[in-house]
Amino acid sequence: MKILTIALQKDDKNISTSFELIEAAKSIGGEIFTAILAQNAQSAAEELVSRGGGKVIAVSHANLQHFNDELYANVLFSLIEKHKFDLVIGPATFYGKALVSRLAAKFGGRMASDVNSVNSSGESLSVARSHYGGAVISELAPQGGGPFFATVRPKMYPESKEGAGEVLTEAMDDSLLNGKMKIRERKVESSGAVNLNEADIIVAAGRGLKAAENLPLVQELADSMGGAFGASRAIVDAGWTAYSNQVGQTGKTVNPKLYFAVGISGAIQHLVGMRTSQTIVAINKDKDAPIFNVANYGIVGDALEVVPALTKKLKAELQG
Ligand SMILES: Cc1cc2nc3c(=O)[nH]c(=O)nc-3n(C[C@H](O)[C@H](O)[C@H](O)COP(=O)(O)OP(=O)(O)OC[C@H]3O[C@@H](n4cnc5c(N)ncnc54)[C@H](O)[C@@H]3O)c2cc1C
Repeated sequence: MKILTIALQKDDKNISTSFELIEAAKSIGGEIFTAILAQNAQSAAEELVSRGGGKVIAVSHANLQHFNDELYANVLFSLIEKHKFDLVIGPATFYGKALVSRLAAKFGGRMASDVNSVNSSGESLSVARSHYGGAVISELAPQGGGPFFATVRPKMYPESKEGAGEVLTEAMDDSLLNGKMKIRERKVESSGAVNLNEADIIVAAGRGLKAAENLPLVQELADSMGGAFGASRAIVDAGWTAYSNQVGQTGKTVNPKLYFAVGISGAIQHLVGMRTSQTIVAINKDKDAPIFNVANYGIVGDALEVVPALTKKLKAELQG
């Protein structure tokens, strides 16, 4: 089986999900290829080779500096046609889903989105997908011919650490690298913030925080552990924080090692985005809040008192 993993980059540097996809490909077996598209892809490609990316196809061009799904799809379409891959996997992130679904549509639509794992037995492939917030797992086997596409949820596989391979530098026709859309400028919403999809620790805030002015308390707790800030939809809708922070059915699906739900009731639409987190800690003043049904640890109390006390304790522990 010929497998292509799509490695995405930020500022010419690999993002961690790329190494998770390689591990997913390794678990299937077969011939592994990885594609990396960037302004200058060489050093990211070399790192991917050393981490098990197999034959790493590096495509460098000024127009590939920032993610552009039209151009990225043009380039990958031509690579998939040329190399005849059986399976193409990308990350189930905002960019990954936009790109992989566009590619799958070009090849007839054999695709599964947001999968937990890709599996093979002999020559037959299957993917596992969770539903109802992880309460039901389905196993899907692709039918028909042509390449099969899947986006794999971040943090479902460990990062691949090593391997052997080579960099294959591919030059692309200029027509593929000039599309209708041009990215003129990129503005980062909050510089230095940890990306929710990649975070090992997330501290998420809900309406129990009472007012936008209290959110820095939660951000400070996240910062004290090197974690990311998340939010329930209630506080996004209220305009307290940006939509990009929202976790849940209509926000991001996350899978960190540690998830703090602070002043969040635990509505099903929130749970579907975070209930597969390895350890969940809930802070809520209502002992009967549904969030305690999925929490491994619960603190019943006023978030405005518990959160600063926890931050103070953690800072003392981690720094001392
Ligand atoms: C189609 C659809 C899609 C949706 N998608 C999403 C989604 O993606 N993500 C999402 O989050 N929601 C989503 N929702 C909304 C969801 O149903 C809930 O309304 C929302 O999650 C509630 O947010 P919350 O827990 O912050 O607020 P609330 O439900 O109001 O809960 C606030 C909690 O804070 C506690 N509290 C109050 N004061 C304190 C205090 N001082 N200290 C500690 N705790 C306190 C309360 O006991 C309560 O449990 C969606 C809804 C629909 C219909």
